Amino acid sequence: METKLAILGAGPGGYVAAIKAASKGIRVTLIEKENLGGTCLNHGCIPSKIMKNSSDLFLKAKNTAQFGVNINGDISFDINTLMQRKEKVLENQRKGIEALLKKNSVHYVKGKGYIKDKGLINVELNNGGIKNIEFDKLIIATGTKPLNMKTFPFDHKTILSSNDLLKLDTIPESITIVGGGVIGCEFAFILSGLGSKVTIVEARDRLLPLPSVDKSISKVLQREMKKKKIKIITGKVVEKADKNDNYLKLTMGKSPFLDNDKIKNTPQQIIECEKMAVCVGRTPLASEIGLENIGLNRDEKGWIKVNNSLETDIKGVFAIGDILGPLKIMLAHVASHEGMVAVDNIMGKSSRMQYNAVPGAIFTSPEIGTVGLSEIEAFEKGMDIKSYTVNFRTVGKAQAIGEIAGEAKIIIEDKTEKIVGVHIIGPHATDLISEGTLAVTKGLTVSDLAHTIHAHPTLAEIMWEVALKASRNPLHS
Ligand code: FAD
Repeated sequence: METKLAILGAGPGGYVAAIKAASKGIRVTLIEKENLGGTCLNHGCIPSKIMKNSSDLFLKAKNTAQFGVNINGDISFDINTLMQRKEKVLENQRKGIEALLKKNSVHYVKGKGYIKDKGLINVELNNGGIKNIEFDKLIIATGTKPLNMKTFPFDHKTILSSNDLLKLDTIPESITIVGGGVIGCEFAFILSGLGSKVTIVEARDRLLPLPSVDKSISKVLQREMKKKKIKIITGKVVEKADKNDNYLKLTMGKSPFLDNDKIKNTPQQIIECEKMAVCVGRTPLASEIGLENIGLNRDEKGWIKVNNSLETDIKGVFAIGDILGPLKIMLAHVASHEGMVAVDNIMGKSSRMQYNAVPGAIFTSPEIGTVGLSEIEAFEKGMDIKSYTVNFRTVGKAQAIGEIAGEAKIIIEDKTEKIVGVHIIGPHATDLISEGTLAVTKGLTVSDLAHTIHAHPTLAEIMWEVALKASRNPLHS
């Protein structure tokens, strides 16, 4: 008998699972309450990169003289054109997904899904009415929304979420970004490039304070931010936000996340700014979907728990993507991959999700690409490792394009010389990390990489150079 699969949420987790399952002959109903593409396409990856592209172009246009290109006259930036372009790209992408769903005969239902009982979902249709969807198997892929803080909730005018930043109609003269994680750091560069005076506040002692991001990356990032006049405040938290007529007054105090007394005892600090963006995390969209009706419990933070096959405690009910929380890595490509693994298991295969070689792409300036273990993670696992670093300034292509800031670090297991981690900050690092991902996924050694011919002159030569260095045969470094 044909399996009936219902999928709740059409982000990169849900829609990819739907296409894969339908292409294998499963009868799929995909339920989405907003737009196809989820957070990634509508409020995340794609719109933020469209903004970054304009910000980078604007900065480049102002700095062409050093390359012998003189632009005479004013160079100005028009946010309306940027936002119109953004909407056009998003609409095209959404249409593309809809066409793929149609081609694969996915039954797409526009509305808010609610699990009514085992095997039954009620959908409150966007155009009115209720539709019942029966299922044999279910994939929950409902994702997250920005975390709203009780002390200073979003008012969407002066206290903004990341969603609001993607819909700005003017560039604020000054903005404080609370949270120095991936989203906060990306927006710091975007807004600074577009002319805003940016301050970034992070409660921990470094920006990007994630175990998977090597400390040396944070160091280079902070140096590059300072060059762009972005003000960095670490080891403090914003305690209060007072709204005045035209500006916000933020009071910052001790961070509960640090035990370093020196930082803890620093005095209160006040900063004034036009707007504030709160980028301190995400909340799971799992409380209003009827999980209790099938007896599905969540963990203490509200994330859904699954086994390695991505099945929940309830047989036949799977969960994928951001709804699984940060321990399973909240990235679009992880959600899509999980979608494929879940479908394999629904089809009776025995597929397991592996998280040891997930690339991370951070679109700061310069960009960051990471994969595998950081030095801290390797030490915590008790591994004997060695690490080698090469600076981009030793790479001919980096000199040619005038982007020499940054480095590539390779972490290898001492005994086997297997590559267990790669951490790059520099031009096109988000593309360059693919080679490191292949190396970590396939358990390649430094010798494998050193014996791979890399084209010249390319930025990818940094991977060759760092492998040569790790093989004790450095050439240019
Ligand atoms: P989502 O994309 O959140 O999709 C879930 C969908 O479920 C949503 O469309 C929602 O409307 C729908 N839904 C929820 N409840 C219901 C219901 N009851 N009924 C029907 N539908 C429902 N990741 C990267 O890999 N690279 C990046 O560069 C990147 N940049 C980002 C930038 C920003 C500003 C943000 C916020 C995120 C970024 N991310 C990035 C993260 C990425 O967006 C997420 O990891 C990804 O979208 C998660 O996919 P998902 O399918 O699990 O959930």
